[in-house]
Amino acid sequence: MPPVPRPDHGRPAQGADPFHEPRRDDCPWCGSRQLRTRARAPERGRRTPAAFVVDECRDCSHTFQNPRPTVDGLLLRHHQQSAEDHSRPTPAGRLRRHHRAAARALLPYPEPESWLDVGTGLGYFPEIAREIHPYTVFDGLDPTARVAHAQAAERVEEAYQGLLTDPWIVTRLRARYDVVSMFRHLEHTADPREELRAAHEVLRPGGHLLLEVTDGARLFGALPVRGRRLRKSSARPRPLHLMPLRNLLAELRSLGFEILAARPCTSLPPRTHRVLAHRTPRPTAPTVPRPPRPPISSAHPSAP
Ligand SMILES: [Zn+2]
Repeated sequence: MPPVPRPDHGRPAQGADPFHEPRRDDCPWCGSRQLRTRARAPERGRRTPAAFVVDECRDCSHTFQNPRPTVDGLLLRHHQQSAEDHSRPTPAGRLRRHHRAAARALLPYPEPESWLDVGTGLGYFPEIAREIHPYTVFDGLDPTARVAHAQAAERVEEAYQGLLTDPWIVTRLRARYDVVSMFRHLEHTADPREELRAAHEVLRPGGHLLLEVTDGARLFGALPVRGRRLRKSSARPRPLHLMPLRNLLAELRSLGFEILAARPCTSLPPRTHRVLAHRTPRPTAPTVPRPPRPPISSAHPSAP
């Protein structure tokens, strides 16, 4: 099956920054207005003119780039990174062992028939995970055309180019997978909560979500509280969001996931946490008794 292209959203409105939303003055995670700036720098390149600012919420410790990119800005970032990643060789050594360890996290559970790797890039994880799960069908989703290369190299069975949160992708993939994996992906999305909801939708009931997320405390912990200007683009942390682990686990539970494991992965810098969660039926809202209907007045007859 050929890769599914992302639909064209058309040209952005004239005069607006097409790559960034307006700067926000509240926390995208908890809504608090108690923000502090952790780092600031001019953005590189003429096509992304907004300043690079990292803000942190004083109430929940969520850290995020402010302003956040629009969908087009996000895709531009992915395509810039994609050009760099094409020169990477097939993982070997430590990274290969890391991928195998992640795949082995599913071994205690029933063998998955279908697995979607979100942010799969060139499909190296599915290629290595197949050594652990030889009877599983691996599909890949990525915002860039790298996923087409992954399919051409037979690292994934089906390839989807786009964002997991696109309604047409969620509709197409709803309740289709036994496992959804995201490796250092969630922190690069515009809205991690929306991404988790979409992952819940494409999982079958009883399916598993396997996450690896960057430890925000380690990545930004060395930055001073105020006034630091990061002149070298290589010094700028790339994630758009960094969630404290407790925030992430609370969100997963609220979506109806049961946390099976959450532990640090120490083999790769920067330090990451690996989380394995089990999709249980979404908690149902408590039933609110309906108020009794008022009697129909003869003065206001219902429309025919
Ligand atoms: Zn907050």
